[in-house]
Amino acid sequence: MDGPIESRVDHEVDNWLRWLPRWRPGTHRGRSRLCRQCFGSPIVAAAGLATDVPHAVQHALSMRMKLVIDASVDEYTDRNLPLLGRELRMTEERRAARSYRPSDGLEPEFKGLDLDPQPPPDAPYLFTFGELSQSENVNEPSLVPPPLTPEEKAAIRVELKLADDYAVLVGKRVCAELAGHRQRIERAIAEHVEPQVQALLADLDSSLDFR
Ligand SMILES: [Zn+2]
Repeated sequence: MDGPIESRVDHEVDNWLRWLPRWRPGTHRGRSRLCRQCFGSPIVAAAGLATDVPHAVQHALSMRMKLVIDASVDEYTDRNLPLLGRELRMTEERRAARSYRPSDGLEPEFKGLDLDPQPPPDAPYLFTFGELSQSENVNEPSLVPPPLTPEEKAAIRVELKLADDYAVLVGKRVCAELAGHRQRIERAIAEHVEPQVQALLADLDSSLDFR
């Protein structure tokens, strides 16, 4: 990802607008719990998607903005926060040592959603992708780093706070930039999402009428 945050936001909004015509109701099954990424998100609000927009549509945009923010924070960390950078690299190496990560390589639209379909009551799964993705807790003895000293821990806490502050700053810039795209986003929702939602509601109405 190159360029200033604003041009990255523009680029990811373009990607989302290209994806939007492919959205269909029910592409993603309903969630049993609120999405931490989208619920109450200032990014979803800044894009004008907070009300009456299906979650999958909001989610696709908020995950693309998360990509922008994460990439910027990673670069900032690499440049300015050596201790935290080292900890993150070691965590990443431990992750890479695991052979199969079901959540890797997903398109942004699918990231952060539940990995498994809802299990039918009469057909138990032998394992779930969700369980598999948690198996990172199995420690490879050779990859477990020596414990940190109290001084190192304190220094990392300071760097973590700086990284958090930077993430907030980037988040604000993303929101400001998104506000400038609201008209484009609104038009796309009106063209590609609203008619499908209306058709669904009309179907529902007529099936209720015929009962
Ligand atoms: Zn979401």
